[in-house]
Amino acid sequence: MKVGILGGGQLGRMLALAGYPLGLRFRFLDPKGDAPARPLGEFVRARFDDLDAVAAFVEGLDVVTWEFENVPISTARFLAERVVVRPGPAALEQAQDRLTEKKAFQALGIPRAPCRAVDSRQDLLRARTELRLPAVLKTRRMGYDGKGQRVLATSADVEEAWEALGGTPLLLEGLVPFERELSIVGVRGRSGETRFYPLVENDHEEGILVRTRAPAEDVPAGLQKLAEGYLRRLLEAVDYVGVMALELFQVGEELLANEMAPRVHNSGHWTQEGARTSQFENHLRAVLGLPLGETEAVGWTAMVNLIGRVPSASAVLRVPGAHLHLYDKAPRKGRKVGHVNVRASDVREGEQRLRALTRVVMPDGVTM
Ligand code: AMP
Repeated sequence: MKVGILGGGQLGRMLALAGYPLGLRFRFLDPKGDAPARPLGEFVRARFDDLDAVAAFVEGLDVVTWEFENVPISTARFLAERVVVRPGPAALEQAQDRLTEKKAFQALGIPRAPCRAVDSRQDLLRARTELRLPAVLKTRRMGYDGKGQRVLATSADVEEAWEALGGTPLLLEGLVPFERELSIVGVRGRSGETRFYPLVENDHEEGILVRTRAPAEDVPAGLQKLAEGYLRRLLEAVDYVGVMALELFQVGEELLANEMAPRVHNSGHWTQEGARTSQFENHLRAVLGLPLGETEAVGWTAMVNLIGRVPSASAVLRVPGAHLHLYDKAPRKGRKVGHVNVRASDVREGEQRLRALTRVVMPDGVTM
């Protein structure tokens, strides 16, 4: 079976690495020549809106999926007329615009922070009065890793944020006084069967995910089921097939949805060594109509992103339980170049190992 993947980033690379043991072969489409997935299969270098290239890309593929959700919707539809595309274009469309996404949360009864669309300075001033500060101004499209966001703490920040982001469709959202950030990754098969990984805890710095602890500690009774229920609604609403992630803010015993990702997700990388079946394998199983794998955690795992620099492999691997995943990307400030999963039998041992790893990957003494 040959799987086509739109996007050749690290997620595509890790999908292929999970797919080879299942006898799968891969073809990637990506505009960048140095895409991390390139060594792992056939590679078509073309823009996502180059429909001649897309038509050639699809020849001989059994199924197409994506690892990058900002593929033009017209390309997804063009593909869906020629080959099985999983998840289907509807999920892509919903996730491309933060406003559509927030409306979907509301329509499905999934709690979220109040928000307003902002298309002009006047809209911003009105939204600020309605929502009150502090709030976050976000671009509606193409935002990732905290890019295209400004926190408005006081009225003085409003003008500066408008100067920085005005001119593109925006969204103002109330700042959530969360206790912690959690996320849940789930998978839905072609028959409609769903499976969910345990809730995990995520730390962000400057909008970038730096660390995941899996499973999250001290999850109040009922919270896992609540998160599963929200994600199930999202999956079923668009007859989704594959892995989806939902980022959540925990406030007491409540969960507020922040963002959904219609693909394998960075907060699910721990599953490579930390769960019975990785999110990458389960995504492939789902899109190919194969039985889904078990999603239980195996012990306790921390995932640490390598951002901006590649540490010494031997120093990382000296930490007990550490597994290194490099993406073959040139280091650049703020760029994710790999991650490390540290597995342990329980949280106590895991936190110790995580401290040892942190000394290696963040030698400047960044606090945890
Ligand atoms: P996003 O790109 O929307 O996932 O935002 C990146 C990160 O910014 C989140 O993981 C949070 O740490 C923070 N953030 C975004 N929106 C909010 C909000 N409404 N309230 C509090 N923190 C937020």
